[in-house]
Amino acid sequence: MANLGIPQNTIEVLQKYHFNFQKKYGQNFLIDTGVLDRIIAAAGITKEDCVLEIGPGIGTMTQYLAEAAREVVAVEIDKALIPILKDTLSVYDNVTILNEDILKVDINGIVQERNGGRPIKVVANLPYYITTPIIMGLFEQHVPLKSITIMVQKEVADRMQVGPGTKDYGALSLAVQYYAKPEIVANVPPNCFIPRPNVGSAVIRLTRYEEPPVQVKDEHKLFALIRASFNQRRKTLVNGLGNASNLQISKEQVAQALEQMGLPTTVRGEALTLEEFAELSNLLF
Ligand code: SAM
Repeated sequence: MANLGIPQNTIEVLQKYHFNFQKKYGQNFLIDTGVLDRIIAAAGITKEDCVLEIGPGIGTMTQYLAEAAREVVAVEIDKALIPILKDTLSVYDNVTILNEDILKVDINGIVQERNGGRPIKVVANLPYYITTPIIMGLFEQHVPLKSITIMVQKEVADRMQVGPGTKDYGALSLAVQYYAKPEIVANVPPNCFIPRPNVGSAVIRLTRYEEPPVQVKDEHKLFALIRASFNQRRKTLVNGLGNASNLQISKEQVAQALEQMGLPTTVRGEALTLEEFAELSNLLF
């Protein structure tokens, strides 16, 4: 099958199958061989790797992954794409296509079955409407992972990478940085896709830490604390956390913990580093 990274080949496949793009599934297919090469290089795929691809579309990136990896499992929700994928990937015997919703499928089960539970790599041009639940699902379910190399909306890539004191900093930055080292590896303009998205995109690589960079007594409590701190972004931590019903802590306890850490009691969540959130969590819980 011809290389689908070349726009004319993608257009031919779309016409042959009379494919209708589903907006609700975030379908923007890549048509740029340079970007595809960069994603594969950034993910460092070798013949040792088992790769999970989320949302293969018509199989454009899947072709590149199948050439580079030992094995590829591609999970696609749109059943109209399944016969197309069977055709575009027919020359590869190392690709398995699953017609499933990535938010519902048992990813740990796939890793167990396909890679004996050893860490896999995730590579995807993600559907943007569910970027955060996909990433958080992979981390929170403790899927054995080496890295996640993904195309996301540029603004979301920025949010994952920034530190305190910027407007993009929030719960997603802290959650990602607890589990992985984020690095933006490419910025990708709308004209590299068909149809063109109305936002800029970026490829970001999240390299999973073997051990988190901070130690906490209770990971769930840390994330509940982080979420509550950014729920009401403009509130001080004393007011925001003291009122959060799911945390069951008083304003006085928050003020006391902040003082113990040498922080002003007027501080907001957006000023705290991951290390400081970890310390606060350990003091409070
Ligand atoms: N990988 C292809 C490419 O780069 O050309 C397509 C990428 S497109 C941005 C996102 C793909 O994810 C679409 O094929 C869409 O149907 C699929 N998708 C959307 N929601 C999904 C879900 N919940 N589970 C699995 N796949 C999903």
